Amino acid sequence: MHAQLETLLEIQDLKSQRRDLQTTTHERQVEEEVFNVSIDEAIETLDGKIVEMEESLPTQIRSRYRRLAGRTERAVVPVISGTCYGCFVSIPTAVASDSERNEAINHCDNCGRFLYVID
Ligand SMILES: [Zn+2]
Repeated sequence: MHAQLETLLEIQDLKSQRRDLQTTTHERQVEEEVFNVSIDEAIETLDGKIVEMEESLPTQIRSRYRRLAGRTERAVVPVISGTCYGCFVSIPTAVASDSERNEAINHCDNCGRFLYVID
């Protein structure tokens, strides 16, 4: 898989972990009390990591990613059976084909999200 595509997926994963940390208030109390961990600190650490990873991306990809991330939770979506799972529109065969599977950074012509192909 393309290194920057992997980075994008990792950023997305960190962001969803961050959302989980923010939203689970009851569990959060329990975790903080029982395990003596600070969720705020964990979120700060995640934020730092997210920024660091975003900064490691080339400008063009980073600005596209940030634009997308501003309006959708999922800026990187899978292509399954030739369909973009961001907007559910068919992807041209060239992008969805086996030949250069995830070795290039592609995006959906319709919704602009980054794409990765899975079976
Ligand atoms: Zn799309």
